[in-house]
Amino acid sequence: MSSLSLKQFQDQVSELLLRHRSLLDVLSKFQQSGAAANRSVVKSVTECGCLQLHAAKQEYHPEMTLSEAKDVLGTHVSGHLCEQCIEVVSNELGRNLFYMAALSNLLDINLEQVLEKESKKCSTLGLFNMS
Ligand SMILES: [Zn+2]
Repeated sequence: MSSLSLKQFQDQVSELLLRHRSLLDVLSKFQQSGAAANRSVVKSVTECGCLQLHAAKQEYHPEMTLSEAKDVLGTHVSGHLCEQCIEVVSNELGRNLFYMAALSNLLDINLEQVLEKESKKCSTLGLFNMS
C-alpha cells in the first residue's frame, strides 16, 4: 500500500480548488463538512442503529490511577459502525479533511507540521491532560 503524505494531499487540493478560492467560502465549507460528519455519526445511531449510545456522567476523580480511570471512563458507545455507515462517515471525514487542507493552503499552513507538532504534544502531555 502506498502512503500519501499530507503535503501531497495539500498540493492535490490546491490544484483542484478553483471553485472555492474565497477564504469565506472555504471557512463555511469546512464548518459545514464538520457538521455533516457529526450528522453521519448521529444517523448511524438514530437511523441505522448499528451504534447505540448509553450515556451517563463520567465518574472521574483526579486521584484515580490510570487503570482505575480506564475502568471507570466510558465511551458511551456500544456496537460498531456497519460497513455502510463506515463508508458514509469516512466519506464525510474525507470531505472535512479536504476543506481543512484547502483552509491550510489559503493560510500558508503546512499540515504535516501541524500533525508533527500535535503528535509531539500528545507524547509529552500524557493521558490526563488531553482534554
Ligand atoms: Zn450502520
